[in-house]
Parts: sequence; C-alpha cells; structure tokens
Amino acid sequence: MPGTNYFKPRGVPLTTLEEVNLTVDEFEAIRLADLEGLYQEESAKKMEISRQTFANIVNSAHKKVAEAIVKVKALRIEGGVYKMAEMRKFSCYDCKHEWDIPYGTGRPQKCPQCESKNIHRAQEDRSYARAGRGRGRCARHW
Ligand SMILES: [Zn+2]
Repeated sequence: MPGTNYFKPRGVPLTTLEEVNLTVDEFEAIRLADLEGLYQEESAKKMEISRQTFANIVNSAHKKVAEAIVKVKALRIEGGVYKMAEMRKFSCYDCKHEWDIPYGTGRPQKCPQCESKNIHRAQEDRSYARAGRGRGRCARHW
C-alpha cells in the first residue's frame, strides 16, 4: 500500500508545477514488472487482472513516469482501482493483544507481545477494499 506519495521536482515553484497522477494500480504494475522483474503473466495474476489489462496499465504507467521526468512534473500516486490484501486477525487469550497478518503468510505460532501460544483467530476479519471490481473473493478458512 503506497498511500499517497508525492514526488516533486526540486526548484520548480508550486504555481507553475504540473502534476501527473499515477494510480495505485499503475504504481503496483511498475513495481511488479520493473522492480521485481516479473513477467506480465505473473504480474497480471498477482493483480487478478488479464494480461492485456496489465499490459495497458503498465504502458500507461511508463508513459506517466516518463512524462513526469522528462517534462519536470510532479508525480502523485493516488487513486485507481485496487484492493488491499486481506488480513486475518488474531488475538491472544493471555494478554488480549490483537494483531493482523496478511493471508498467505501462515499461522502465527505465538503472541508477538507475550509469546503465549494461547492464541486464536479473532472472529472478525478486517478486509480492506476500496473501489473494488465487484468481484468477491472466497474467504479462506482453515
Ligand atoms: Zn499475548
């Protein structure tokens, strides 16, 4: 989750500064394709979109980043269609500590606070979703 990031060229007054808006999915596409060096197939799978859609997003992202650099514009990373990783919530019977871990990282062995093994999965899961694609994902139980 990049949050709102803002990159501003040095020495350009705000009044004359133009802005390019990179969406969060474009940001993620660049991260997967360019930074992690994944193939488009894999990147598309990770973002749960088609390869063609991924290609469009990454092309658009490249163009925007290039525009910001070449034309000395600010780059704002914000918005777009994305879904946060779903989190599982755990709590500790002993110290009542509660914490979240993302799906796919395995069950915690002990409480990170008091190291008790007397932990359980909390009832309510927190899942963050913003401007989702309206596609539900089955809750994974174990
Ligand atoms: Zn504890």
